[in-house]
Amino acid sequence: MSDCIFCAIVDGDIPGRIVHETDQSLAFLDANPLAPGHTLVVPKEHHARLDEVPADAAADLFAAVNDLVPRVEAAVDADATNVGINNGPAAGQEVDHVHVHIVPRFEGDGGSPIHAVAG
Ligand code: C5P
Repeated sequence: MSDCIFCAIVDGDIPGRIVHETDQSLAFLDANPLAPGHTLVVPKEHHARLDEVPADAAADLFAAVNDLVPRVEAAVDADATNVGINNGPAAGQEVDHVHVHIVPRFEGDGGSPIHAVAG
């Protein structure tokens, strides 16, 4: 089994609640969601940071994100989404396999926009 938890989900070695799959990307529900429907989209190949992902895999990853955003919003009746990447440990990345967060947002939910983190 891989040391990387997301590679283990990609390989089927541990269960993930998978919601979408392409040739190069996999999407599954976050195990500790910030909101109902919080989804992670990962390249199947292991890369720690976004800037290490080959262009074709990055294109596939963001096409999957683009497909998923309206589907995630519809699934939980969200008003909007935060879509973002913690790219490196200093930015808060805890799992060193690139992942795009899709976090559903609801009018008046009291959450923070991504730019609040950067000040
Ligand atoms: O961007 P960052 O690395 O901090 O986010 C990691 C995300 O992976 C968290 O939202 C966490 O809940 C999620 N996670 C998961 N399943 C695991 C381990 C972490 O969904 N087994």
